[in-house]
Amino acid sequence: MGKYNGPLCRLCRAEGTKHFLKGKRCLTDKCSLERRKYPPGLKGARVRFKKSNYKYQLREKQKVKRFYGLGEKQFRNLFYKSAKQKGITGENLLKFLELRLDNVIYRMNFAASRTSARQIINHGHIQVNGKKVTISSYILKVEDEISFKEKSINN
Ligand code: ZN
Repeated sequence: MGKYNGPLCRLCRAEGTKHFLKGKRCLTDKCSLERRKYPPGLKGARVRFKKSNYKYQLREKQKVKRFYGLGEKQFRNLFYKSAKQKGITGENLLKFLELRLDNVIYRMNFAASRTSARQIINHGHIQVNGKKVTISSYILKVEDEISFKEKSINN
């Protein structure tokens, strides 16, 4: 399993969209998209916006993938799972992504980014329906109840 350890706002530049992978950083001018509004790489400034259909689809996929901080394999598995379900695959996929525990923690403003949400979960601070869950890819159901472990509340 590969994990991207490079500069995160470089990914903002790659897609021309802010990803907020480091929380509020993208709101400041530290986000490199502010200073260099073109894709990264040697020819980033020159070769621009020549989008083929394939390239468009690829970039959209990468964007969603990086937004939620998934690797290709995890993303692909979730895609297959979505395709097997009833309804529109794309919508199912987004539903799964949104219902991931790390995403929900982030959306509830318990963490500044999905990365730090994952850390909170890994460290065992989160309970689902009263049981400790340390898996950030855990997919929640509609009536699940999320809480902090009592000892973790002070943090
Ligand atoms: Zn950024």
